[in-house]
Amino acid sequence: MEEEAGEVLISREQIEKRTRELGEEISRDYKGKDLVCVAILRGGFIFIADLCRYIKIPAQFDFMAVSSYGNRTQSSGVVRIVKDLDVNIRGRDVLVVEDIVDTGRTIRYLHDNLRTREPKSLEICTLLDKPKERIAQVKIKYVGFCIPSKFVVGYGLDYAEDYRHLPDVRILDPEYCQS
Ligand code: 5GP
Repeated sequence: MEEEAGEVLISREQIEKRTRELGEEISRDYKGKDLVCVAILRGGFIFIADLCRYIKIPAQFDFMAVSSYGNRTQSSGVVRIVKDLDVNIRGRDVLVVEDIVDTGRTIRYLHDNLRTREPKSLEICTLLDKPKERIAQVKIKYVGFCIPSKFVVGYGLDYAEDYRHLPDVRILDPEYCQS
């Protein structure tokens, strides 16, 4: 039996369809370019694994891990790079792949950090976007789904490290929020 966490917001079928569309769009936009996808761990690990198989052009993949200071359901915007890139992105076409953008502080920090490394281009792709929560402005080129301001888990996203392996995105029910 599957572990429960709350009501399903986005089903695995919807995610698969949208991920395929994003992969096709990225493949068209980056044809003939020097694409490096930078996935943000840990939440982005399932999304990048699925997305990369729909990218039908030459591409490289690298990872950054960040930890953001804050409580379990709200980030503070203070970000620490726990694992940095292994590849040099100077002069290359970088696409940052995130699981979710909420206030935008994390992606703003990463964007500013990566910009100093002088990529040729720097764009953002996120599976989930909570536009109503935005504090830090950042341009997101590819959005999987805009979602309401609810705390979600599954498909890579955790609550206190649980629920990442759920195949769909669910709204976390307070009943499952024991600390
Ligand atoms: P931001 O800096 O945009 O406010 O938050 C980004 C980070 O906060 C995400 O990378 C993620 O780790 C966490 N986050 C924001 N909203 C949610 C959510 O609804 N569910 C989960 N599991 N994490 C979230």
